[in-house]
Amino acid sequence: MTGDRFRPLGRVPSLRIELLGLPLDALTFDETVRLIVDRIARGEPTLQVSLNAAKYVRAAEDPLLRGFIRRAHVVSPDGAGPLWAARRLGLEVPERVPGVDLMLALLPEAARHGWPVFLLGARPEVVERAAAEATRRWPGLQVAGTHHGYFRADEEAAVVEQVRQSGARLLFVALGSPRQERFLDRWFAKTGVTYAQGVGGGFDVLAGVARRAPEWIQRAGLEGVYRMMLEPRKRWRRVVVDNARFIALVLRAARRRGGGGTRPGPAP
Ligand code: UDP
Repeated sequence: MTGDRFRPLGRVPSLRIELLGLPLDALTFDETVRLIVDRIARGEPTLQVSLNAAKYVRAAEDPLLRGFIRRAHVVSPDGAGPLWAARRLGLEVPERVPGVDLMLALLPEAARHGWPVFLLGARPEVVERAAAEATRRWPGLQVAGTHHGYFRADEEAAVVEQVRQSGARLLFVALGSPRQERFLDRWFAKTGVTYAQGVGGGFDVLAGVARRAPEWIQRAGLEGVYRMMLEPRKRWRRVVVDNARFIALVLRAARRRGGGGTRPGPAP
């Protein structure tokens, strides 16, 4: 993991806090969109990562994931977990910035600015449907290319070359976690895109294959529980174990200071 894969520019240091040993940009949803659009317009390489309870738990055990998150240019609180943790530790994080919603806000910006996008990941029919739905919703959006997410490690370089050749400016990667983080850590600089974001099951949502939790469930921070009820076999263990471990992480950090994070510092 050398540092030259992408430059950590961090243009918003005064809004960047540290929560549970990881950076987090304490921005509203709209500020996050504006920041990213500005950076893309300026041509500044921008890798965005969304943190939820599961990712904090995994990062605590996985130095590669920690390194990736530390090098990311924009780090957003995906779920209710980070918000609760911040409150518990006396830090201010204005609101959730769900990764899927961020993608859905950036696609119309890409259409407006004429920035071509590449959709990489999910099942072949899902990524095709997601691309068709995106161009239907946002006429003028240029989808420079799509590729499904079921390729082998030795095919990665060819997939990356396809992204590069497409001339895409934005890349959304839906390979699930932590595969999409590993992929972006390794290849972001080679893709030629200005902006990249891992979106988990985001193409399934855009394609209409996966249902989003109702708004009130999202607001209550229960989206993980809702998804668990839809796919209990696949998800129960992860939701229960990850949440329990996350709560333990937060309580340990709170005992250590009372804290575990730092407040926003002044801009350097
Ligand atoms: N996915 C993929 N390749 C893989 C594994 C998953 O493209 O090898 C896609 C999957 O089709 C789905 C998305 O990644 O569109 C998210 O998958 P999942 O819900 O399993 O991951 P999570 O985000 O819950 O970790």
